[in-house]
Amino acid sequence: MGLITIVVPCYNEEAVLPAFYEAVCEVAASFKKSEAFEFLFVDDGSADSTLAVIQGFAKHDRRVRYLSFSRNFGKEAAIYAGLRHAKGGLVALMDADLQDPPDYLKPMYDAITEEGYDCAAARRVSRKGEPKIRSFLARRFYGIMRRISNADIVDGARDYRMMTRQVVEAILSVTEYNRFSKGIFGWVGFKTKWLEYENIKRAAGETKWSVWKLFKYSMEGITAFSVAPLALASFSGIALCGVAVIAILFIIVRQLLYGGSAFGWPSMACIVIFIGGIQLLCVGILGQYLAKTYLEVKERPVYIVREASEEEAQV
Ligand code: UDP
Ligand code: MG
Repeated sequence: MGLITIVVPCYNEEAVLPAFYEAVCEVAASFKKSEAFEFLFVDDGSADSTLAVIQGFAKHDRRVRYLSFSRNFGKEAAIYAGLRHAKGGLVALMDADLQDPPDYLKPMYDAITEEGYDCAAARRVSRKGEPKIRSFLARRFYGIMRRISNADIVDGARDYRMMTRQVVEAILSVTEYNRFSKGIFGWVGFKTKWLEYENIKRAAGETKWSVWKLFKYSMEGITAFSVAPLALASFSGIALCGVAVIAILFIIVRQLLYGGSAFGWPSMACIVIFIGGIQLLCVGILGQYLAKTYLEVKERPVYIVREASEEEAQV
């Protein structure tokens, strides 16, 4: 296999990058001599000195390559760019904050080279040290996602993984603009070994994900990998029609039996508002998919590179 590329998306990570680099270098040194390492840092439009720190590494270490985006395009874009530019026969994807333990590179490597897996990925079995509400929402999201989509998303799965060139090519062949990597990894299939570990707190710096950002991310995931909400919209329409028919029959029968049906305005108002709400919800769901289609049809690039290490083509 020869070369192992470590792809690292970085967004305002100046505080933690030196520790990360050192830790991975240490692990790299423990590998067989025949395995060469390559670092590919993707600076996702950081506002701090992340790029300067990376350039500092590159100056004295020829294994370090980097791409720097013209603005913050998001982690998904950074992952895509990293995979596109990776040269290794094996490619590993790691967060910069040391939440992905570098010691796992070796077992991942063994799983692929010795046990015949195409891909080895890490999965958190606990979410210790994370706000309770966040863990709860994340669990619900994975539960729903598994039920309504055909992308096999494992609870607690991280983006931390090592894969063969074949898997990388498969992921790159998914060229959509709205990228939800966790879904794409599951969708392309292949034999994946899951390595489990306890949650580890960020080594330094801050998380880039607020609850609101995570909510938007989960909506992105659902609309990118499932059309179940559309089915839900039509289903609730049919169900409400059923309820309306029953109500109409009820009123007719009551009118025939007792007469004088001019009462019940408050309940009528409630029903009108309720149905109006459902209709707006359904139009909203349609809108979500339409918006996605619109963005997809424009075929904008997923990211734009402003600066890169010398040998990088300016794609
Ligand atoms: N990241 C990125 N672009 C963004 C947000 C995050 O490249 O817009 C990177 C970040 O630098 C880190 C990884 O994605 O290497 C995971 O981010 P973070 O640790 O903030 O997320 P968490 O681990 O809390 O889910
Ligand atoms: Mg993190």
